Amino acid sequence: MNIFNRKKYVTVPQGQTAQMAADRVPDGMWVKCNKCGKVVYNKQLGKYKICPLCEGYFRISAPEMIVNVVDEDGFTAHDADLVPENPINYPNYEEKIKQLGETLDIKEAVVTGRAKIHGIDTMICAMDSRFIMGSMGSVVGEKITRAFEAALADKLPIVVFTASGGARMQEGIVSLMQMGKVSAAVKRHSDAGLLYITVLTDPTTGGVTASFAMQGDIILAEPGALVGFAGRRVIEQTIKQKLPEDFQSAEFVLEHGFIDKIVPRPELRDTLGRLLKIHCQKMPPAQQSMDGFEYYCGGEGVEPFKAVEIARKVTRPTGRDIISYMVKDFVEMHGDRNFRDDGAIVGGIGYLNGMPITVVATQKGHNLEENVACNFGQPHPEGYRKALRIMKQAEKFGRPILTLINTSGAYPAAGAEERGQGSAIAASLFEMAGFTVPVVAVIVGEGGSGGAIALALADRVFMFEYSMYSILSPEGFASILWKDGKRAKEAAGVMKLRPTDLMELGIIEGIIPEIESGFENDMAHSLDYLESLLLAEYGKLGAMPTEDLLEGRYQRFRKFGSY
Ligand SMILES: [Zn+2]
Repeated sequence: MNIFNRKKYVTVPQGQTAQMAADRVPDGMWVKCNKCGKVVYNKQLGKYKICPLCEGYFRISAPEMIVNVVDEDGFTAHDADLVPENPINYPNYEEKIKQLGETLDIKEAVVTGRAKIHGIDTMICAMDSRFIMGSMGSVVGEKITRAFEAALADKLPIVVFTASGGARMQEGIVSLMQMGKVSAAVKRHSDAGLLYITVLTDPTTGGVTASFAMQGDIILAEPGALVGFAGRRVIEQTIKQKLPEDFQSAEFVLEHGFIDKIVPRPELRDTLGRLLKIHCQKMPPAQQSMDGFEYYCGGEGVEPFKAVEIARKVTRPTGRDIISYMVKDFVEMHGDRNFRDDGAIVGGIGYLNGMPITVVATQKGHNLEENVACNFGQPHPEGYRKALRIMKQAEKFGRPILTLINTSGAYPAAGAEERGQGSAIAASLFEMAGFTVPVVAVIVGEGGSGGAIALALADRVFMFEYSMYSILSPEGFASILWKDGKRAKEAAGVMKLRPTDLMELGIIEGIIPEIESGFENDMAHSLDYLESLLLAEYGKLGAMPTEDLLEGRYQRFRKFGSY
């Protein structure tokens, strides 16, 4: 960022002196950074308005934001001259609106219109905090609602950049009603299967957070942006405690599961372009049916406990490793929109040989640090809720789903029970039974119990040659039935947990070949096969009428039982 020599331009000390200096310099040339408190030369901020000294973000106007993200062929503004009346006759309100409209390059706190991003026709709304703190009055609500209605009529995706202090007090209850009005328009747009992306910028608060800001299919945020509902001071007064520095930051809401991703401002245009592109492509192209695919039929001689040992190796490629080998241009999504982002589940969208796909994987680590971050591959309820949220988007946008499973089980802990581990797994099974897109599950290592089947109610289930799928661990099995956990090896022999046994029982459809020392030692051997297998399966499943797909999945599980 430092294209200028900072010393040459800025040697102003912090604090009061800096303020005095700022006051002295000609208007518009020098600006004070809110983050580091230093004064910088306006032009040094560049088009992304980032402080060259501390990389803090300056607030950006709606027109500037739009120019930064849209293609060069321009932006067609809608309703640019719409101004509010005075619904509760608040003194001097009309004058204030008029005066702001004359001083600024905008007439209200949101700019709406249509443009292309990476060549894709998109509706855009950008809020502007210069206009009465980006507060949502009648016109803000009306313009955004009209933008959603126009996007619905023309089947366009929509991107909304939020920047708002919340409701507009001067319009009273009429302002509050905008939350309902916009939300209803968002719902209609969503029900038509159209994409809505929100980009939260500083600040996104109050009624905007509590309505359309949090209703996006994909929610992005700028680094450090303030994102919250109630104001910090109000909360501090209520609870009579000081809140931590990062409270209600973009980073805070990411950790708490409410947004998908933090995107630096210079990367916004590209990220939006990639997301829009992947949502414009749908089912697998016909040439990927691959009729002549040859299925592997080995794995006979694998000793059961050896499958267990290799499946558990810490060197075994993780969900993330497989995704990075096989899935191109992967964009990871985060959060369950409810409680927390669970590191034990990795999910997102990308391309499998050019075909858009949604991938959800349980994640283990290769070392202690990684394993702590992903809880040793044992998801909490919020992990299953995150997985389900991401899979539901696949359903909405017609993308096939791939789940990669390697977990010893769902995390057995008090907190997990309090937040409904059973309920989260149940919801996953319930919804997976009804997805109208093809679902393929692959057991990569351990397929442990309810935590595994939570992601395996699929049209096809495959297993790696050295993997296991079982009601519980062999140690647990031996301990419960024989009161002796040390007889795990013996238990593995009777449990029918290895792939060939499960093939015989009809629990799985096939096996992915793997060299004896584990597939980390020959990723290409296993994963090139897996990729071809998946393309063949999605080709077949994708060509089936929806009723047949659903009936097939129903019967796949309906058949299990012995009586
Ligand atoms: Zn700064």
